[in-house]
Amino acid sequence: MKKLKLLALCIAFSALVKGPLLAQTEKLHIPDIPGYLTLKGDFHMHTVFSDGHVWPTFRVHEALRDGLDVIAITEHIDYEGFPEEIEKNYNKSFELAKEAAGNKELLIIPGVEISPRVPPYHNNALFVTDANALPSDYMKSGKKEFVMKENMTREQLMAPFSEAKKQDAFVFYNHPGWGWWDGKDTTLFTSFHQELLDEGILKGVEVANSGKYNVIAHRLAMKYNLTIMGNSDVHYDVYPRYRDSHRPMTLVFAKEKTAEAVKEALLARRTAVFFDDYLVARQPEAEALFKASVHVRTEQKQRKKERTLIVHLYNESDIPFEIAAKSDYDIEGLPLGRVTLTPRDTTTITLRAVWDYPDETVLGIEVSNILVSPEETFKTSFILRNEEK
Ligand SMILES: [Zn+2]
Ligand SMILES: [Zn+2]
Repeated sequence: MKKLKLLALCIAFSALVKGPLLAQTEKLHIPDIPGYLTLKGDFHMHTVFSDGHVWPTFRVHEALRDGLDVIAITEHIDYEGFPEEIEKNYNKSFELAKEAAGNKELLIIPGVEISPRVPPYHNNALFVTDANALPSDYMKSGKKEFVMKENMTREQLMAPFSEAKKQDAFVFYNHPGWGWWDGKDTTLFTSFHQELLDEGILKGVEVANSGKYNVIAHRLAMKYNLTIMGNSDVHYDVYPRYRDSHRPMTLVFAKEKTAEAVKEALLARRTAVFFDDYLVARQPEAEALFKASVHVRTEQKQRKKERTLIVHLYNESDIPFEIAAKSDYDIEGLPLGRVTLTPRDTTTITLRAVWDYPDETVLGIEVSNILVSPEETFKTSFILRNEEK
């Protein structure tokens, strides 16, 4: 009994000391950037209307709990999990979610997933006006099993994309390289994808799916100038998978919180992906978000005969930033200038032996958990001005 009590105490204590930095149930604070709202989105999820296991209203409940601003429920147009119980109607899935969201602070975007097991593989179409109008004639059976026709044609595979184009949808390539990779095109960018790109249909790619980073997808995003997306692709409940961190999300930098503004931002490629402790973004969005999150204040201090410059970096966001600071002065106590800017906390860096305070000096920052390409981490700098002069 005593042992048990001690164990309970130890567990309680260790939870206090090193509890998860970000609990899934907490609403994450990610600041707006100049000129744009930062909307937290998840544009890929399923319900019982295809191969998911929850009702659409539950997706709304989860999204509100997790503090998301926008979601899309994206049923497979070519698969029905419960054909006897649920009539095939993908507009219904959207309507139920929309009704559940009511006038709450959550946008619901209509969407579907086109999901053949051959090129062009899985793609989501967002902002469709009639989800049921997308044909899936490449299927032999999609009722409780996924069987494609043996003699399906290229036309049949392209048909749902043509319809998506007609409906002015935003199409993105889901989880490139997932199980059905045929090995014929190792870049995973096939002639189908080239055609979709040439037709102006393909606009984005999932760089993170269900919490996993995809380097091939990131390369495709850079090479073909596609919008960077990161989504849960959840089929069951979100919570268990992400209980110790947070669900993956696409951050959308939108002019306002409306579906139209989300679409404009996606088309303009103003997004970032946040999964685990990583951010994936292009340089301008990485710069804007990092500078909106981290606020700098300097202070001059005399330490006996030595003069130092204290730099206070306050991180107002819930994203931890793993930085390496660089300065012309010596950085005290931090090998290679490495330190973590903990969420909602101030980190202090001391620059030593600053005999003559300059009017300004540059603090270089490299952030190892922000990727601006598959090979490059984000780099920026702060100009530290002498405000005491
Ligand atoms: Zn898929
Ligand atoms: Zn999916």
